[in-house]
Amino acid sequence: MNKVNTPVAGPNFLKQIIEKDLKENKHEGRVVTRFPPEPNGYLHLGHAKAICTNFGLALDYNGQCHLRFDDTNPETEETEYVESIQNDVKWLGFDWKQNKFYASDYFQQLYDWAVLLIKNNKAYVCSLNEIETRKYRGDFTTAGQNSPYRDRSVEENLDLFSRMKAGEFSDGTHVLRAKIDMQSANMNMRDPLLYRIKKVNHHRTGDKWCIYPMYDYAHPLSDAIEKITHSICTLEFQDHRPFYDWCIENLPVPAQPHQYEFARLNVTYVVMSKRKLLQLVKEKLVLGWDDPRMPTLSGMRRRGYTPQSIVNFAHRVGVAKAQSLIEFDILESSVRDDLDDVSHRAMAVLHPIKVTIQNLASDFCEELETSVHPKKVELGKRKLYFTKEIFIDESDFKENPEADFFRLSPGKEVRLRNAYVIKCNEVIKDASGKITELKCDYLPETKAGKPTSDGRKIKGIIHWVSAKECIDAEIRLYGRLCSVPDPENVPDGQDFKINLNPNSLSIIQNAKLEKNLAQANLENRYQFERVGYFCLDNKDSKPEHLVFNMIVDLATGH
Ligand code: ATP
Ligand code: MG
Repeated sequence: MNKVNTPVAGPNFLKQIIEKDLKENKHEGRVVTRFPPEPNGYLHLGHAKAICTNFGLALDYNGQCHLRFDDTNPETEETEYVESIQNDVKWLGFDWKQNKFYASDYFQQLYDWAVLLIKNNKAYVCSLNEIETRKYRGDFTTAGQNSPYRDRSVEENLDLFSRMKAGEFSDGTHVLRAKIDMQSANMNMRDPLLYRIKKVNHHRTGDKWCIYPMYDYAHPLSDAIEKITHSICTLEFQDHRPFYDWCIENLPVPAQPHQYEFARLNVTYVVMSKRKLLQLVKEKLVLGWDDPRMPTLSGMRRRGYTPQSIVNFAHRVGVAKAQSLIEFDILESSVRDDLDDVSHRAMAVLHPIKVTIQNLASDFCEELETSVHPKKVELGKRKLYFTKEIFIDESDFKENPEADFFRLSPGKEVRLRNAYVIKCNEVIKDASGKITELKCDYLPETKAGKPTSDGRKIKGIIHWVSAKECIDAEIRLYGRLCSVPDPENVPDGQDFKINLNPNSLSIIQNAKLEKNLAQANLENRYQFERVGYFCLDNKDSKPEHLVFNMIVDLATGH
């Protein structure tokens, strides 16, 4: 478990409901929520919001939050996903304690209740094929028609259903349906499916079952079995609520959970559906589920986002009933807010040019000291080495500067951060005209922020590293996954992949980093001064070949 603060955000409609229920002693004063992922992919930022909401409410009201795998779709579900989901929830700092469950634990009970529905003439085996079923179902403007199998006798239904279970029929030949109302204005109430035949191996129950309950049937009953009090889901389930209630009302369940809906989290420049993210992984358009460009929790973890910043973001956007599209910038600013406090400072030159300090001896090496963090003294000091050859960033030199360029240029002066002022005497180029070296002098009286002897103002400060006392590293810079804010908004016949950003990854092979970063570890985050926030890549970085990911740049104005 991570040490993450799970702050309580301001009031929201879910809290109001819970507080009212507590006041009325509705569930004997209990608050039990659940986070019910289907283990068919890795969790994304939207799930993080659901996790923070469900676990957060349980924490706020001294209740419990269950982790329940809704594993009713054996074809798409895998143990790999079950494990990654648990890792991600823990990483966010939440604890389900002993309350980890699987819908598949309840398969027998769900079956027994289906039999009871048949006995009570509330469910029947329907043998229409898929196309006919759709036709009989009608649509929003046309009422449905009763299936010709709707009036099968209880005995015939019991016999067929047990033979479905015994594996006598092939996939798609029969289904079990609730007997509700084919004329209902709510399509979800037109005799919804309860069970279908799927002769597929299940990642937990193996070959035990060849009929599997539908999510809409399994979900309310799993909630009831676990005595969930507040079953919180996203808005698209609003129209499913009447069927949720129907299941609870028509079966002898041990508790009376109620479903509440809130708006899904959508964020600009990314897609947030496991199905779409899976496509990117399968088609190798990204490096995997944990590609640092992915909005998955494993991707964001690898990118270097802290769990705290994601929890803070979830609370910042809050829960509401209205759909909204949240700016990616808001996420990045939550990430920066947290990183500023925790990141160790360092200097790194991503696009180095060599600078030779002409008025220094070739073996000169002065140790300079500066802090690891400007505000957190407890993080201590770090050493820098000022030597005859140093590197500065290409972008900090201009041969023909505009009037407002205050960094280095021929004949001009600039301050090296935490060190001295230097003045550029000469620009050396290779045959192609590319600048290969700058020859400079340093001003000995200007050490660590001291003024020049005549008190001249030096406007620019740039970062640098010693050429002798530095290390090499690979740096990966990331752009947004998609190149437009709303990537799912595409012309007919196209899909979101046309909006992938082709320049979302750029790799710098030989960046020069201050030597202290040889000790960098996976737990820490680093601010490369004037550049951005970085961390070691948790997969590809090796002691002999360090790889740093850019987490986020410094916001403009920093
Ligand atoms: P996806 O569309 O990505 O496959 P899902 O809703 O099918 O997501 P589940 O595994 O069924 O994924 O979701 C588990 C829980 O997470 C559900 O309660 C669901 O409502 C919630 N959830 C999923 N996506 C979001 C989102 N974008 N914002 C908030 N909650 C979400
Ligand atoms: Mg789902």
